[in-house]
Amino acid sequence: MLTTSSLPKNFYGEAQQMFNKQYPTLKDYEYAGQTVFVRVDFNVPMRNGIVTDQTRIVAALPTIKYLIQHNAKIVLMSHLGRVKEESDLQTKTLAPVKGILGNLLDNKDCVQFVDDIEGADLEAAINNLQTGQVLLMENTRFADITNYDGSINLQSQRESKNDKKLGLYWSTLADIFVNDAFGTIHRAHASNVGIAKHMVKKCLGLLVVKELTMLSKITTNPARPLVSIVGGAKVSDKIQILDKLCQISEAVIIGGAMTYTFWKADGLNTGASRVEANFVDQARLFLDQYRDKIFLASDCVATTTFEDKPGIVKTPANLKDDEMGLDIGPASQAKFKDIIKKARTVFWNGPMGVFEFGNYAAGTRAICENVKTLNEAFTVIGGGDSAAAAEAFGYTDCFSHISTGGGASLDFIAGLQLPGLQAIIKKNHK
Ligand code: AMP
Repeated sequence: MLTTSSLPKNFYGEAQQMFNKQYPTLKDYEYAGQTVFVRVDFNVPMRNGIVTDQTRIVAALPTIKYLIQHNAKIVLMSHLGRVKEESDLQTKTLAPVKGILGNLLDNKDCVQFVDDIEGADLEAAINNLQTGQVLLMENTRFADITNYDGSINLQSQRESKNDKKLGLYWSTLADIFVNDAFGTIHRAHASNVGIAKHMVKKCLGLLVVKELTMLSKITTNPARPLVSIVGGAKVSDKIQILDKLCQISEAVIIGGAMTYTFWKADGLNTGASRVEANFVDQARLFLDQYRDKIFLASDCVATTTFEDKPGIVKTPANLKDDEMGLDIGPASQAKFKDIIKKARTVFWNGPMGVFEFGNYAAGTRAICENVKTLNEAFTVIGGGDSAAAAEAFGYTDCFSHISTGGGASLDFIAGLQLPGLQAIIKKNHK
């Protein structure tokens, strides 16, 4: 496989140049002594206050290190989870990230944490920052349930609904704004779009540029054939991307629960499997238009209860009314293997089955194994659950790129506008 380190030197040069023309990047500014607000994506999984996966923190390091080396005063802002109730102010704190970041930077003393997102304590902490130091502020989504005076207002949604005053306030504290949070680039929040709107000096961080460059290798002149693999729970979430993938790929493999909406559209029996009735007509349209490109699972591993107990291999012909498919079957695995082995580019989003259950993980694992055997292909996972599966099964090194943004990468590939990106675009490119 082609991994990031083995890619030819000019592999993404063209795409990167294109982004550099449209968007300011880190090297466009001088940072010495400047207060630089960096929107990062530290929305990391946590259990009992302990970070269980550091991938997103690691992904933000190149930008943070660049700014440290260039003597900036760095203020990091991120959301963590959804903040809906008062108890989230305790459980969704970003405090545990401080120590991890210090360790990863090999310098515990250079990272500080302030348990505020606005107000006198935050401002004092920023004023006291020395060059080369990093200040992590509290979860930006705490503004979703608080008013300006700090009182609780569960409806306020100041961060998520891009409250004008909040973006303006943050912009007054910063000299330069860097958006390096690819995971939220498809959202218009106060901490990415709101603040950027009021900043004269703003740019994309290294992670965002890398993500855009890698993903654009799927949409712009990919090495052929391009094989797209789509799975997961819902067709409804992926309608736009499916349409786009059918347009740009030589083959589109469909697995996961999506299979059954397509089986239904094809007049096949689905038993008790998950079918999205509202999307059967849309699935039929896809089949009518792209029948020669779409490769559906032909069998499944079925069971009568949604539990991690062994299932039986079934086809639409012998699937009983009370049986639901929770993974693709061996015939589908063999069919997909034949297609994937010819690929020169692979884009994958969505697991082939309920991979969280050991009894229904084989189909998803088989996709990883097939990609692993490709020698010269450029292979991308579009974030989300397929990234989690590749990680859980130990295949992360087998892919050229694993996106840090599930929704963002889908929107990018589907060709939708990304508000976080639009807010940074150079004026003459509007
Ligand atoms: P998505 O977020 O749409 O990519 O969906 C990921 C989820 O789809 C995972 O949690 C899987 O357990 C689930 N999934 C995959 N295949 C099936 C299936 N056949 N039936 C029910 N859920 C599934």
